[in-house]
Amino acid sequence: MNKRVYLFQEGNAEMRNLLGGKGAGLAEMTKIGLPIPNGFTISTEACTDYYNENRTINDDTTAQIFEALRWLEEKQGKKFGDVNDPLLVSVRSGARASMPGMMDTILNLGLNDESVEGFAKKTGNPRFAYDSYRRFIQMFSDVVMGMSKTYFDGILDGARKSKGYVYDYELTAEDLQEVIAKFKAVYLEKMGHEFPQDPNVQLMEAIKAVFRSWDNPRANAYRRMYDIPYEWGTAVNVQAMVFGNMGDRSGTGVAFTRSPATGAKGIFGEYLINAQGEDVVAGIRTPQPISKLQDDMPEVYEQFMTIAKTLEQHYRDMQDMEFTIEEGKLYFLQTRNGKRTAGAALQIACDLVDEGMISPQEAVMRIEAGSLDQLLHPNFDVMALKNGRVIGQALPASPGAAAGRVYFNADDAIAAHAEGERVILVRQETSPEDIEGMHAAEGVLTMRGGMTSHAAVVARGMGTCCVSGCGDMQVNEENKSFELGGVTVREGDYISLDGSTGKIYLGDIPTVDAGISGNFERIMKWADSFRRLKVRTNADTPDDAENAVRLGAEGIGLCRTEHMFFAPDRIPKIRRMILSDTTEEREAALNELIPFQKSDFKGLYEAMEGRPVTIRFLDPPLHEFVPTTDEEIMELAKDMNLSFAEVKSRCDALHEFNPMMGHRGCRLSVTYPEIARMQTRAVIEAAIEVKSEKGYEIEPEIMVPLVGDKKELAVVKKVIVEVAEEVKKEKNSDIVYHVGTMIEIPRAALMADQIAEEAEFFSFGTNDLTQMTFGFSRDDAGKFLQDYYKSKIYEADPFAHLDQNGVGQLIEMAAERSRKVRPDIKLGICGEHGGDPASIDFCNRVGLTYVSCSPFRVPIARLAAAQSEIGLMQAAKKN
Ligand code: PEP
Ligand code: MG
Repeated sequence: MNKRVYLFQEGNAEMRNLLGGKGAGLAEMTKIGLPIPNGFTISTEACTDYYNENRTINDDTTAQIFEALRWLEEKQGKKFGDVNDPLLVSVRSGARASMPGMMDTILNLGLNDESVEGFAKKTGNPRFAYDSYRRFIQMFSDVVMGMSKTYFDGILDGARKSKGYVYDYELTAEDLQEVIAKFKAVYLEKMGHEFPQDPNVQLMEAIKAVFRSWDNPRANAYRRMYDIPYEWGTAVNVQAMVFGNMGDRSGTGVAFTRSPATGAKGIFGEYLINAQGEDVVAGIRTPQPISKLQDDMPEVYEQFMTIAKTLEQHYRDMQDMEFTIEEGKLYFLQTRNGKRTAGAALQIACDLVDEGMISPQEAVMRIEAGSLDQLLHPNFDVMALKNGRVIGQALPASPGAAAGRVYFNADDAIAAHAEGERVILVRQETSPEDIEGMHAAEGVLTMRGGMTSHAAVVARGMGTCCVSGCGDMQVNEENKSFELGGVTVREGDYISLDGSTGKIYLGDIPTVDAGISGNFERIMKWADSFRRLKVRTNADTPDDAENAVRLGAEGIGLCRTEHMFFAPDRIPKIRRMILSDTTEEREAALNELIPFQKSDFKGLYEAMEGRPVTIRFLDPPLHEFVPTTDEEIMELAKDMNLSFAEVKSRCDALHEFNPMMGHRGCRLSVTYPEIARMQTRAVIEAAIEVKSEKGYEIEPEIMVPLVGDKKELAVVKKVIVEVAEEVKKEKNSDIVYHVGTMIEIPRAALMADQIAEEAEFFSFGTNDLTQMTFGFSRDDAGKFLQDYYKSKIYEADPFAHLDQNGVGQLIEMAAERSRKVRPDIKLGICGEHGGDPASIDFCNRVGLTYVSCSPFRVPIARLAAAQSEIGLMQAAKKN
């Protein structure tokens, strides 16, 4: 026999994986002697069995459930289904991590046509008994059988109206008997069988419904968002009912030991006299503040406060508690570490340290790294948001809140911004040419593109709110309008975007600025004292770099130089270079770009004040820069002294069938070494100048992208070294510089030992490495990945969370192989995964030197790196 059912007294808080959060909490509270209604937990392993065994509960588990039920009957002195005094139970789900979207609660299970009569007699309160039965039928039909709530609401409404009542509680016992008859009739009509009268059947159906709810679409979506593995499963808790609706000395409520919104100390909670759980949640009656309980039932209040304090001290964290008072007797139904805003989390962690309850190390572990996002971007005013009209929802690609007028191209967005307007840029998809428009915008909304689409990556880098991949939206860029959620939005209309939820609102919702409080700084300092992994930033402009330094970046891990070429005064020069026929012409065009590049790099070096700066050479396929409109082609033709047709045909010649795997990255420098020459000169001259002007010890790091072979790197490196040495000689400088490469092609990972002979450092470009390892495009995968989640092929977006099993192997292998050749090799990561907590943990475990992420993710990465290191220390101690 495999043990699948545990009485509350058999468990404890450590058994969370097996009993789920709720089950482990109930067991622990039982253990420390708190007033908990008796009950038992059907384990998460039983859930796994259920799915493995074709969605059935096997005989062994069934037998254990009924054995536990017999025990419960004995404990309560009541029998399940008894016609005189029936045992009633609640059935509730409880996964390891608390998960909205799953089946929640069924109350009063065990009532049927006969036992309700006994229940009425026993309680001396027929109205209460019939009300309990109608609630049970309603919950069972909705939650277990999936019937629409509207049938039952309609019947209740009808009953009230026909009697001229306003509230449900005005319905008499007789009225409720009629309601029950109607409920059962509609159940029979819709389900094709009678409402189950056998309590054993009711129980088993309810348990199965909990297991089933683990796999419903809402739960699956939530799991994907929060990285909760599918195989965890959920537990089910069966507990003897206590009633908060037995009169004026009964009630039910929820309370927190500190404010979940701000973290302020003190009990925050609400309760309702004479009510059952769902009344509090449903919001029909307005609950009382918990302090009122002191007047209503002073001795219960005293006891409640003492237990709340005990629980907080026991768990050493803010508790979220559910309680019921049955005729003056207090019961706790649940306690858990309360969910909280990021601001509250910091406040509570710091307070608990000051109160001597936890250590700084524990405080660091308590903050969910990803949640810091909330503190780093402006947020919507909460009240205004509640009243906002949602017209659509798509990928929450870059967090923050943005409201403004809609514009459909970069130029219009820039112009409106220059006029002082707040702008939302709406595009079918964005391309590098939209960068300035994106910069001018408060937020970006795109129809196409996933979490690592151009729009998403760039917006995160800028800290601009972005909602991407809104397939429901029809954008007409020509007409300057879009349709979504039955609304047509035209240029100049206001919309609001929530980049943290992906929701799109109609109208102008006010925002409030995010602040960094003292607690934030304190936690970050503690985190820094624990971490080994360095944190750098991906930054292309001095503004981004300064911002990142303010947030704690220790260097630049990736400067994408191509972003520097799109400014109006530069793009004609790069276009001229691209369309030149001879090396001489190309060099002439490139020479004009040197001063621009140099000033860009000087800006970065200055912003970084001597911290390391990695500059990546030109990466995208050249056709991304070529003119597209006739007007632009004409202008360029004039500039180059060529005919329109000639320029057009040269542009067309750059067309590639698969540009992502085409002429890009270091391949450009192999064909056109003059590009690498120009960039090297700019990098080294800028470094020498800033070093002498500001005295910073700068050692520029030049990074060659998309290498797949040692010789390929060697060819480009030779050009770099030649020019660098030439510049050093010209400037009489002894500046030290480094040449390294990105590992973003699987072959580079396989050949890492050889490549390390040429490269002083590696930076894992996991955007490309993921794309090339999976063999699907980072820009197109969004279209079909949803189907892969649905089919349980992949649980998460591999472009957002590093695929540790697959791509991770390549990283680990490349790290090991390169260290054999060059033990002091610097290893970093600069793909989007560098800002993702789970991926950062992986990077720390395989011993990378640093992660590099967009500026707004720097604090997240610092915290995640510390948590990973503490995790390693704890694991080492255990072994
Ligand atoms: C990468 O491929 O991971 C990378 C950082 O480069 P890019 O996103 O610019 O291709
Ligand atoms: Mg790349």
